Amino acid sequence: MKQSQLFPKTKKEAPKDAESINHKLLVRAGFMDQLMAGSWTLLPMGFKVVQKINQIIREEINAVGGQEMLMPLLHPKTIWNETGRWDKANEIMYKLKDSREKEYALSFTHEEIVMDLLRKTISSYKDLPVSIYHFSTKFRNELRAKSGILRGREFMMKDLYSAHASEEDLMEYYEKVKSAYSKIFTRLGFNFKIAKASGGVFTDKFTHEFQVLSDVGEDTIYWKEGDTEATNEEVMEGNKEEYISAKSIEVGNIFPLGTFYSERMRAYFTDRDGGKKPIWFGSYGIGPTRVMGTWVEVSHDDKGIIWSKQISPFDIHLVDLNGNGKEIYGKLIETGFDVLWDDREVSAGEKFGDSDLIGIPVRLVLSERNGDKVEYKERSKDESELLSLDEAIERLKK
Ligand code: ATP
Ligand code: MG
Repeated sequence: MKQSQLFPKTKKEAPKDAESINHKLLVRAGFMDQLMAGSWTLLPMGFKVVQKINQIIREEINAVGGQEMLMPLLHPKTIWNETGRWDKANEIMYKLKDSREKEYALSFTHEEIVMDLLRKTISSYKDLPVSIYHFSTKFRNELRAKSGILRGREFMMKDLYSAHASEEDLMEYYEKVKSAYSKIFTRLGFNFKIAKASGGVFTDKFTHEFQVLSDVGEDTIYWKEGDTEATNEEVMEGNKEEYISAKSIEVGNIFPLGTFYSERMRAYFTDRDGGKKPIWFGSYGIGPTRVMGTWVEVSHDDKGIIWSKQISPFDIHLVDLNGNGKEIYGKLIETGFDVLWDDREVSAGEKFGDSDLIGIPVRLVLSERNGDKVEYKERSKDESELLSLDEAIERLKK
């Protein structure tokens, strides 16, 4: 991609009302734009990052048997009344009426929709288990939409739902998804902890949150030296002084919901013994747009964002000070790299400033001073090296 054609240009200043780092940097660098509080356009580079995050999630969810699909976002009131959530979730739901006064909700989650699907399709234990998911928009009337893209009123979620013939089968699968989530957040490169949280009204079991350690987090988690799992504030037991605590950002949450939904929505199956039983149900969410914002919160410096190789919008930033990098750009593309080529006629200072702001992990500088060598610099390091193009390519392949 030629940078002269990249939409949009970077901005010198962050928006005046921006309070959080992800808001300031992602807007300045041209990854997202704010329509109103809690509502964001993912611009081309922001969209690329989210697609990469989604692909990592998709691979690990497919590996535990998840099947991807797509569900609607406009839901009839009647379905939300079946579980009582039309009233109970009143604060968070966006509700609307059509011209015939019929009432609808914009999706803030999909348990009821999946349960409706299950009761129409599952009749026997032979039809179970089922594991289905989608990536789609969620709408939530968030009162504090102040943390940039961390808390949107409209945001992206990957939500997976699983249905089982027994509690044992549900809990076995729940553990599988828990490890899939650990793989996802490890591949994404986060320093995270799994925290036990209460099941609320749905289940007497614990749910689990995936929490990335960060001082700007709204949550606090607690653990003791050597513990594999932490706990969140609400389920803390005992003396808080015995615990290590840290601020954190919730990036994922898994729920063993049991039969709460299937009983209310009459989703039954015929078991081996001929008896009618309610389906055992779990749901599992990750917010890819929040994940992008979280990455920026934990990986930046005073010059800009520092992407990882895994989710960077491009593999290489080719900073061309000579204006004759076409051949090298071509060779890098041919080798299979996704390259942002700064072909603009602007000062070297502006090029380096934008390169640091955008934060692609590897920068290759072409300048007269370097002769036929390229200057290889990693965004996360201060020093650079002069390499031949072939040496640079070898290093990039690693
Ligand atoms: P929070 O406690 O932060 O409000 P939640 O517990 O209500 O989140 P879940 O219903 O568990 O969120 O949603 C699953 C995932 O969706 C969260 O772990 C998070 O990654 C993401 N998410 C939730 N709310 C938002 C939001 N308002 N904006 C962006 N992502 C969100
Ligand atoms: Mg949650």
